[in-house]
Amino acid sequence: MAMEFKFEERTIALVKGDITKQEVDIIVNAANPSLRGGGGVDGAIHRAGGEVILQECIQKYPHGCKTGEARITTAGKMAAKWVIHTPGPVWKGGHVGEVSLLESSYRNSISLANEYKADSIAFPSISTGVYGFPIHLAAKIAIKTVLSMFSRTTLSRVHFVLFSEKDFQIYFKELKNFIIN
Ligand code: ADP
Repeated sequence: MAMEFKFEERTIALVKGDITKQEVDIIVNAANPSLRGGGGVDGAIHRAGGEVILQECIQKYPHGCKTGEARITTAGKMAAKWVIHTPGPVWKGGHVGEVSLLESSYRNSISLANEYKADSIAFPSISTGVYGFPIHLAAKIAIKTVLSMFSRTTLSRVHFVLFSEKDFQIYFKELKNFIIN
């Protein structure tokens, strides 16, 4: 399922499904700081892309990636050209900078996509799985951060890919607040 919205002459798609199947230039991975793979969406991306992603992470990023920063690799067997790996924050109650770190993950991913002159990018719901970030707040941060930068980049399409109907509806509600006003 997918819904499309126009924003400042650009397109935002809300998609319910598997991010590894998205036909976009860049897929964003909710990685962990080791950049050595993991569970959830990270595991799905490494499985779908194949060994080459892990090999590139080890070779190019021997020290991994700090929370809120972003690193890029190719996308192996997936339709996308690149994967941007960004470790979002672990939710610890909201008083240790989680909000600004999640903003940084989105901001640094968009900046890197722009450096690579990408036309389209797909985000999962970073930090809202095992990292425990409250989804309503995370959706607001994701949408606000991405939309505030969108029109100053090479990007013409952004996909927010949600794995469950519940998450999809939460993003839909947040997006309406930004777009239909
Ligand atoms: P984090 O560690 O950042 O919380 P997770 O991978 O645990 O990352 O979860 C982030 C979100 O990604 C969750 O909402 C989870 O349901 C979702 N997810 C898991 N697999 C996929 C997939 N293949 N495509 C899109 N989203 C996925």
